Amino acid sequence: MDDAHNSEHFTLTPIGHVVSDYPDKFGIPRQPGLAPAANAQLVLTAPYNDPHAVRGLEDFSHLWLSFIFHQSPERWSPLVRPPRLGGNKKVGVFASRSTHRPNRLGLSLVRLVGIDSQHGVALKLQGCDLVSGTPVVDIKPYLPWAESHPNALAGFAPETPSLMEVVFHPAALDTLAQRQDSATLLALIEQVLSQDPRPAYKQKDRGSDRLYGVRLRDVDVKFCPRQKGEATTLEVMAIEPYDQ
Ligand code: SAM
Repeated sequence: MDDAHNSEHFTLTPIGHVVSDYPDKFGIPRQPGLAPAANAQLVLTAPYNDPHAVRGLEDFSHLWLSFIFHQSPERWSPLVRPPRLGGNKKVGVFASRSTHRPNRLGLSLVRLVGIDSQHGVALKLQGCDLVSGTPVVDIKPYLPWAESHPNALAGFAPETPSLMEVVFHPAALDTLAQRQDSATLLALIEQVLSQDPRPAYKQKDRGSDRLYGVRLRDVDVKFCPRQKGEATTLEVMAIEPYDQ
């Protein structure tokens, strides 16, 4: 065997990069599909942007993307604290979907809504949970008959996370109304905030004037927690442009 076949080290080359509605990793839902209004494109890089390489892919509705958590540090530890457990209980890294893991490999199941092969190849995706710029190393079509197990056990994350109510201050609605993408941006803001993007330790803040911010598309969305009876609501106070 030559060295390449004998080696215990493997080099991965990105086949393309994601361009998404998420300029920052903060605020991105913790799994794909939780914010279906999130649009993204996977732009393939030469020589992988040959339209032959995606022939037949248009007949699949969902894809697995293997990617690199390029904004995570290379260090990892055997135990991690999943946000789902409030950030204070530990589980093994391989029992989690943590972004801090050996090899920094991620896996997301996303919806394919179109393929543009006019100039190279760009896949149009929905519900992606990836920050803009994420390097993708492989694409595989999803096979529901083999890969869907609705009765499977899901450990410490057995159900879809519960949703927060999201309301909009009239000033924020006015800003939205002036935009061409007002309907899809409103849906995206609602879907992202309903997952409560605040860090686990801040989720105890059940009502204050403290402003939190999350960047989506080309805007900075400012929101406040509000106490409503036993529940906490997130109120969108302002939608501001940010310098890209
Ligand atoms: N579905 C994938 C998986 O299971 O491998 C990702 C799950 S991970 C818990 C999702 C989080 O990764 C998002 O909430 C976001 O904050 C973070 N993230 C997304 N893209 C990233 C990147 N390129 N580098 C580092 N973190 C990223």
